Amino acid sequence: MARISDDELDRLKREVAIERLAAARGLLLKPAGKNLLGLCPFHDDHEPSLSIDPTQNLWHCFGCQQGGSGNSGNRGRCNFIHQTARSSAI
Ligand SMILES: [Zn+2]
Repeated sequence: MARISDDELDRLKREVAIERLAAARGLLLKPAGKNLLGLCPFHDDHEPSLSIDPTQNLWHCFGCQQGGSGNSGNRGRCNFIHQTARSSAI
């Protein structure tokens, strides 16, 4: 499997909105206040547990507790980009 270069990953983090990555992965997102809700791609989710804040470009899953906010800082967003880029043709 080809590895994403650090430069490419930095570019993705700067330029790509999380909701666009989610859409590219086929996730359906529904507006919920200022956030978007959808099924989490990282665990077997049947109720929308994934919350995306498009304003801050952050995400959090209330099911598996992964996310790009709070204690995880930018790591969660980085993980989201890594995981999504691996499984999508973007
Ligand atoms: Zn989850």
